[in-house]
Amino acid sequence: MPLRDFAKPLDEETKRDLKDYFKDRDYMVIAVAEKEPIRVYVVKATNSVKEAQMIHALSPMLAAITGRVMCGALLLSSLIKHATNQKLLLRLETEGPVKSIAAEVDGFGNVRCMVSAQNVPFKVRHEGDRKKLDIGGVVGSGRLVVVKDLGMKEPYVGVVPLVSGEIGEDIAYYLYKSEQIPSAVAVGVLVGNDGMVAHAGGYLVQPLGGASPKAVEAMEERVRKMPSVTSLLSEGKRPEDIASMLLEGMGPHLLSLKEVKYYCPCSKKVVESVVMALPDEEIERIFKEHEILEVSCNFCGKRYSFTEEEIRRLRRGGSA
Ligand SMILES: [Zn+2]
Repeated sequence: MPLRDFAKPLDEETKRDLKDYFKDRDYMVIAVAEKEPIRVYVVKATNSVKEAQMIHALSPMLAAITGRVMCGALLLSSLIKHATNQKLLLRLETEGPVKSIAAEVDGFGNVRCMVSAQNVPFKVRHEGDRKKLDIGGVVGSGRLVVVKDLGMKEPYVGVVPLVSGEIGEDIAYYLYKSEQIPSAVAVGVLVGNDGMVAHAGGYLVQPLGGASPKAVEAMEERVRKMPSVTSLLSEGKRPEDIASMLLEGMGPHLLSLKEVKYYCPCSKKVVESVVMALPDEEIERIFKEHEILEVSCNFCGKRYSFTEEEIRRLRRGGSA
């Protein structure tokens, strides 16, 4: 059961079945309010971010930033068609040591990411008696790039400067600026004392067309008062519980659930096109020094190797 989508609200029995199925999995829910035109998306992506941390050997700080970008991309998948191969890429580009982090999602809930930095400083800031990772401080200035591949000839590309570097606010700014969608976005990653990702998730709240200004204001106030996503997840709250909290008193209604997974669809065929684009001198140089040409996927680390013979055949137009 990789995907559940429901045109109608879920009945109690289905909800119970899904509770078991999704207990330890990553997933996203969409909920609406009956009394106000407001929609929320809530995602739990702990396993996927843990996987990214392992694949890319991320330090706690880099894992936290990458996880926020991944959760942001998953929330932005609300902009592409559900259950299709449409893709959305969210890329954080910074002038500082974080360089670039990209997360790509498709309409099936698959997410994968690419991280170019290896070392970033570890910074914390104090909020009252709590210590928090200073994400904005490490990210610094830069921009968010969103590439939507809707299956048309050209992908749609939107770029906004970073407003805080905390990622959540930056995504809300992108939605407002480029998509004319006012929204509140929160994304968070909690790293445990062992340096490993313990919880990751986020939510996106959107007042729809007919929402009254009063409702929007009440919504903003509620979002401000919400505990952080990671503290809710570590208390054992599930995405649907968080959605209910966000829509409390407005008649919350769970609309759909979607499983989320770290998944990379790379293959030797895809890598071939990268190899084919290398200049002749580069290929020659590599085979002077090595028996095989090895290329690893930037998203999942999988290695693909080519012999000189294979490359020659490819360049002549045959297949490896
Ligand atoms: Zn891959």
